[in-house]
Amino acid sequence: MRPFSYSRAADISEAIREASVSGVKFIAGGTNLIDLMKEDVERPMRLVDINQLPLDRIEETPDGGLRLGDLVRNSVAAHDQRIADRYPLLAGALLAGASPQLRNAATIGGNIMQRTRCYYFYDVGTPCNKRRPGSGCGAIGGVNRLHAILGTSDHCIATHPSDMCVALAALNAEVRVAQSDGNERVIPFVDFHRLPGDTPEVDTNLGPGELITAVELPNETFNRHYTYLKLRDRLSYAFALVSVAAALKIESGQIADTRIALGGVAHKPWRDKDAEALLVGKPPERQHFEAVAAFILRDAKGQGGNDFKIPLARKAIVRALEQAANGTPQSQTDKRVA
Ligand code: SF4
Repeated sequence: MRPFSYSRAADISEAIREASVSGVKFIAGGTNLIDLMKEDVERPMRLVDINQLPLDRIEETPDGGLRLGDLVRNSVAAHDQRIADRYPLLAGALLAGASPQLRNAATIGGNIMQRTRCYYFYDVGTPCNKRRPGSGCGAIGGVNRLHAILGTSDHCIATHPSDMCVALAALNAEVRVAQSDGNERVIPFVDFHRLPGDTPEVDTNLGPGELITAVELPNETFNRHYTYLKLRDRLSYAFALVSVAAALKIESGQIADTRIALGGVAHKPWRDKDAEALLVGKPPERQHFEAVAAFILRDAKGQGGNDFKIPLARKAIVRALEQAANGTPQSQTDKRVA
């Protein structure tokens, strides 16, 4: 590991001021950043510890939603009664991620900012456009079982690894960001992460020196017809091959609103609002779920090792929507790929 300096920020403005210099990184739970530093992938000159900032609360918002501070631990959010009652889709996704020990340390903001688990990204002896722009992509033509089938580019086919973010995308969450001039910026969650395009080294639309302060959930519940389905190689402590956050509003036997977000298939949580609109006004029946799954995957492209993800994703979308329609009371997270 390379030498670096360390300081603790006493307030938000001090944290942002310290991070205005290049080579500075915020640290909170550190569950991803420390690994990246050990592997020599991240090489910060300085770490600014933000654990002392007053961003560790879950609060009601004036419009009846919930505000989750940047430093709320994943385990605290997963077991908060308000989240369990009003946003069980989010609670299920949180509990599907990582391990209890990691969830105790990991924060909401850190979960959002975690980086891909592409093997080549972590191996500094291999080409990787995300780690070293212009060096090439080891995964294209290489081992790519975990990689993306939607929204890829010729420069990167990595996936975003989070479960929580898939649920936040489905729930129309917003990210609140503090800026260096003292102002606050609000970014719709679906626009927070980027597709790789020509700049795979840029994961998000967060600006230099900006600090996530909170995630806000709107006053809108899907507390009966929802599911978070995660398909993975083993029953726990594994990243999703494919995951689906699905929620439905069913009125008078017809679908009045729907949300479908996919994980494990793209560089960001994948929402397709045109596909969701296809279900509105339809009865919650398998034939319509199959049609919407085919539509979502219309441009899906395998890379060889991950070709299986296309039929897997199709079946996962249908199963998740059926579970949501049936009012499956708890998220179905413990699904293993045979
Ligand atoms: Fe790097 Fe992206 Fe290629 Fe992985 S998929 S090797 S992260 S450029």
